[in-house]
Amino acid sequence: MNTQRFLLKSGTIPLLLVLGLIPHALAHEAGFSEAQSHGLISLNVPATFIVPAWFLAQSGAQTQKTHLSQRPTLPDTLPQKPESNFQKPKTAAVFERFSPKVAVRWDAHFLYVETNGLPSHNMMEGITNWQQQVPLPQKYTAGNAWRIPLHPQPAAKPVSIKGRFLRGAVALAVNGIPIFNPQNNRGEISADIGELDQWGGHCGRADDYHYHSAPLHLQSTAGPGHPIAYALDGYPMFGLTEPTGQQPTELDSFNGHESPELGYHYHASPKYPYVNGGFHGVVVEKEGQVDPQPRAQPVREALKGLRGAKIISFESTGKNTYKLGYELNAEKRAVLYSTNTDDTVTFEFQNGRDGTTRETYTAKPGNGGARENTPPPPGPQARQNGPDGQPPAPPRPTNQYDSNAPAHGGSLLAALPRSADFILRSSDVQIGGELPTEYTGDGAGSTLPLQWTGAPTGTKSYALVMHHVDPEGKTKWYWILYNIPPTVQSLAKNSRNIGILGSSFRGHIGYEPPHSKGPGAKTYVLTLFAISRPLEITLPAVKVDFDTVMTAMKGSILAAADLSVVHTRTGNGVEDPPPPRPRPQKEPKLGSPPVPAPPPPPNVAR
Ligand SMILES: [Zn+2]
Ligand SMILES: [Zn+2]
Repeated sequence: MNTQRFLLKSGTIPLLLVLGLIPHALAHEAGFSEAQSHGLISLNVPATFIVPAWFLAQSGAQTQKTHLSQRPTLPDTLPQKPESNFQKPKTAAVFERFSPKVAVRWDAHFLYVETNGLPSHNMMEGITNWQQQVPLPQKYTAGNAWRIPLHPQPAAKPVSIKGRFLRGAVALAVNGIPIFNPQNNRGEISADIGELDQWGGHCGRADDYHYHSAPLHLQSTAGPGHPIAYALDGYPMFGLTEPTGQQPTELDSFNGHESPELGYHYHASPKYPYVNGGFHGVVVEKEGQVDPQPRAQPVREALKGLRGAKIISFESTGKNTYKLGYELNAEKRAVLYSTNTDDTVTFEFQNGRDGTTRETYTAKPGNGGARENTPPPPGPQARQNGPDGQPPAPPRPTNQYDSNAPAHGGSLLAALPRSADFILRSSDVQIGGELPTEYTGDGAGSTLPLQWTGAPTGTKSYALVMHHVDPEGKTKWYWILYNIPPTVQSLAKNSRNIGILGSSFRGHIGYEPPHSKGPGAKTYVLTLFAISRPLEITLPAVKVDFDTVMTAMKGSILAAADLSVVHTRTGNGVEDPPPPRPRPQKEPKLGSPPVPAPPPPPNVAR
């Protein structure tokens, strides 16, 4: 991605160093976005070459897993659906109510739903826990369309979405907007923490708009008695009542039940799980999400939460031009942006007393947004100087490791060279799966057995970091192991004598098993780094923290691989005991980022 910075203030330099040093987190709960996945379909569609959607759909588009080489220009209106050789499924009519924002086509197996990812209702207003993302059009078209199975099959073992499927969509609303897990990637219930607008949606890390709760407001357009969504297993989701107007009875744990008229179907609910609480039908789970599903394409790095901001308005101020207004510290601020015909996106950040800046982003071929060696993302946090050489505003409470932080994620990979071949797995927990008790503070606190494959040639050592980003955006680390020899390809449970241990965020040497008493599911990410040299760390183990090891690896990371696991405790609401007091600021190392002041008490509801 090219980032053309029209304005680069000197106050951004410390942040540049931070970003250059610390790999950013991945995009929205789903990778670059919640929708990001390694297994997603995208098609090679040059902007000047129009491939009819029906051709792609019926020529085995599912098997074409090439990279998007150029962002095709998004049409203002979606193409008309072609004639199909297959009988029109009745599911099609449900989505067609939202035409022309939504276009459908089908084959014998699937209904394909194409949209630009923007609903006809307003968005964003009412969000009080905002990650600074804004709604940008997406290309959910052609081979990147949503698909709904037309003949859902009951699964032999239906799976809950609690603590699982935390990336990507679990359902598709009938207006073509994806519905994500009611839990965000950190395992929090989005609806409970101010992340959602009054329509139940917000934007992910690819600036992709999606819901995290049931879009009950669609019922009037969908028509009484019609579904408001389809789960990605193909079963329909009705509103709060049956088509007869009666209350649904005998719902299973997924909010579903069987009726003679409708067969198996889900219902929305006004509280958790809001939507289908699991999949009654068969779905393929891959990398923590239903696979395949469309990919949202980011044009810029994901941003971090802007503490205290409240979105007060959102409007289209012209063709492809938008204005998002928010309040921060009693000051009115705004983000104005437009999507341009040359496929760039221009932003103007009106940051009140911090001045106004402009940025233009261009998505580059096959890219998920900015990478290392690019300037930091736009946003108020990137500019710390006043507009006229005034003294810098006081530093915001940022987390230095997550200055780009996870909207919903926590991966350390974003800015790193990635190899699709480099894979980290555990024989005892699946990707995005629940961490067995044995590996937590409730059990023996054993270390996970791990296996990896596909390290790049030239790997001279590995380093392992397990971390979690708490709801206030603080990074906590649970396991640091470095200088694992390049010949090693696995760690046994409770592995000893391989590599060198660092300390946990609590200051204990070795593995700190997750022992959160906070309610809900939390995501912990194990990241394995393939490094081109052994690390030269001379500090005693107790001093080797997250910062130390990330700094030591700087410039030598060849690739990294993630394994996310989930730990759920149904505690009594007592949060983790506070971590040790922040260390006094160290002598700055070469290239070391400034250590920010400890954040003020959280104002984010849990
Ligand atoms: Zn989300
Ligand atoms: Zn029902």
